[in-house]
Amino acid sequence: MTFQDLNLNTPLYNALDDLGFVTPTPIQEQAFNKVASGKDLVGIAQTGTGKTFAYMLPILRHLKYSEQLNPRVLVLVPTRELVVQVVEEIEKLAKYINVRVLGVYGGTNINTQKRAVAEGLDIIVATPGRLYDLALSRALQLKSIQKIVIDEVDVMLDLGFRHQLLNLFDILPERRQNIMFSATMTEDVDALITDFFIAPERVSIAVSGTPLENISQVKYQVPNYYTKLNLTTHLLEDKDTYNKVLIFVAFKKMADRLYDALNSTFYDEVCVIHSNKTQNYRLRSIEQFRAGENRILIATDVMARGLDIDNVSHVINFDTPNFPENYMHRIGRTGRAEREGHALIFSTDKEQDALKCIEDLMQMQITEASIPDDVVISTELIEEERPVIKERNNPLKRRDEDAPGPAFHEKKEKNKKENLGGSYRREIAKKYKKPKTRGDKNFNRRKKRK
Ligand code: AMP
Repeated sequence: MTFQDLNLNTPLYNALDDLGFVTPTPIQEQAFNKVASGKDLVGIAQTGTGKTFAYMLPILRHLKYSEQLNPRVLVLVPTRELVVQVVEEIEKLAKYINVRVLGVYGGTNINTQKRAVAEGLDIIVATPGRLYDLALSRALQLKSIQKIVIDEVDVMLDLGFRHQLLNLFDILPERRQNIMFSATMTEDVDALITDFFIAPERVSIAVSGTPLENISQVKYQVPNYYTKLNLTTHLLEDKDTYNKVLIFVAFKKMADRLYDALNSTFYDEVCVIHSNKTQNYRLRSIEQFRAGENRILIATDVMARGLDIDNVSHVINFDTPNFPENYMHRIGRTGRAEREGHALIFSTDKEQDALKCIEDLMQMQITEASIPDDVVISTELIEEERPVIKERNNPLKRRDEDAPGPAFHEKKEKNKKENLGGSYRREIAKKYKKPKTRGDKNFNRRKKRK
């Protein structure tokens, strides 16, 4: 298939020619007609698969020339670097199209961006926080938005932007096309799709269910967190075999918990990355692991995406991922460059269904290993593992209607003052007894005419 097989137009073909792109990538091929149809779409694809053009080609193909000031297409991305990158990509593709593109992000002067918005635009690429601020200040009108693209939504949710996204959905026109791209499927992403998307079409770069042959896989049935911890500790004591170990967990809280626990045994050998750590901290951790200064790296799925580290001896799935594709991504971190790799997966009773999904995807059973004798089987449970006790008919339980409600008291005198604004102007006016601003001049003129 070539780009000629897609229903593009001359300006787009010319731009693609200039770029030297001949064949659409799989995600571009699959997404084109679906985005063009106007239906909601969920795309699972990593950076580097050509996903930016996958949504921009059909959008630019159907975006009509307009002189209206308000943007019609909104692209939301998690970081300012990505804003810059996406704007650049759009500009390359729109080289021969008369379309106004603007990137806005936090941490820079909002007034400059307000002025740029006021000049009129068609496509706005933004981080959620800054976009919301611009919309609230009324510098930016969102009423004409017809299509919204949320790129790297997994990272966005992992960084805690869910609330900001919900706020934005509230002020966007209800009739709009939602397009979303994510590299990993997570519970959060799934929840967002269910809540806000209407029967979305799905496209994905199919994760191969065929694991690399040079990766050996072993599964352990482990009753709970503390036993998983004991097993991990036991395995990691063999420092020669387990010489570069990547441990995956699903949640940040779990990553921190495991880090604290392992760090007390393997002091100075463990590092951790997840989205609550600063960028510098994450980069340092990855570098230390890559360089071999730290033997063990604990990571969440979203953050480990795109990690390019060689010679990982073992991948430990400390939990069993709910989305089987994530397991394929995780184990693909070992056994690179033809080297032998090892993957281990720990599953509790509750995780058996997820384990079965993984085995179904791979169409194979993972070899089971038994927990070594000297690993202590714990009976202690962490908060998440304890059964939730539902109380029925507890007469002492406070109900909502008994709640005291918000406190009410009269405002103190000093807090009753109304903010009249522009106190300096008022003072000057009083001092000079004549208007000092243009607004006041007009007032005088009006008075004179009378
Ligand atoms: P992305 O996944 O959108 O970050 O794109 C990754 C890179 O691939 C970008 O530098 C694009 O310019 C490039 N690219 C996108 N589509 C194609 C294509 N059809 N053929 C060759 N390169 C492409």
